[in-house]
Amino acid sequence: MGLDAFVQCNCYRQGKTKPFPFPELEHYYRQRKEGYWTFNLPEDLDSLDLWQKFGVWQKTACEHHGMRTASERISDWAGYRAFQEALYQIGWELLPTLIEELPNINWGFASPQTAVWMLKELQTFRRNVDLGINTFLIDTETGHTLSEYIESYNGVFHWGGRTGYNAGIDLEGFFIAERNHKDSEARGNVVFRSKRFEQRVIEHDENGKPRKVEYFDTDSETRFVTNLLAVSRFVVTEEKSESIPVRVMHVETRQPSEGKFEYILRPLEIVCRAAVETGNPVVWC
Ligand SMILES: [Zn+2]
Repeated sequence: MGLDAFVQCNCYRQGKTKPFPFPELEHYYRQRKEGYWTFNLPEDLDSLDLWQKFGVWQKTACEHHGMRTASERISDWAGYRAFQEALYQIGWELLPTLIEELPNINWGFASPQTAVWMLKELQTFRRNVDLGINTFLIDTETGHTLSEYIESYNGVFHWGGRTGYNAGIDLEGFFIAERNHKDSEARGNVVFRSKRFEQRVIEHDENGKPRKVEYFDTDSETRFVTNLLAVSRFVVTEEKSESIPVRVMHVETRQPSEGKFEYILRPLEIVCRAAVETGNPVVWC
């Protein structure tokens, strides 16, 4: 789950596309007020067959796949929230367009003029971002960063649903907290806290899935047993991809590495530039 964006090309307007598949219905293919071209059939004409044919045409109508000059994954939601927090830290005075115009749902538009402002502010962001100090959860055996503290989620990175617990990290370390049933945003009682710990699967179910997990703080030797498995790593090999429980972890406070936000800055710049070049809006989806 995350945010994507694309920008349509101008080939249709410039007469560079293959002929529209049903000329008698072509007037239903038109530009909305936001500048986005869409095929909107009235209900009595609507049919799956027409849609499929339209879809095939749109995919191959011009040199741009799907009639889009740019199509980018912007970020997953966690990365997106981390970026938004960095925007707020720099502040509205410097980054008003990014703060107000970036969407919070998978739909919306940014006009070419907005894209011009966004490009300027993305440069401002690069100059001003104070990468700051943050708290990270590290796989002790491999050194991989597993998660970082995200304020807007109260540090929670794993929602345990029916187990009744959530897990997260904050400035004081890793924690397991009871779910607050009245307010899912709030954090319940903390039942385990540690800066250096092991996550031991002590019982599997009939499908080999972890059923009971013991958390063991290696400094204080406190333990907590639950059916919540908080931290797994997704491992892809040639044969299969699987989610593997992480065994030994610790919490570290450090400076995030430079280039931290490149994952989102780069695709945002690509779609904003495409909007400026084509004069068409960025479509968030
Ligand atoms: Zn095109």
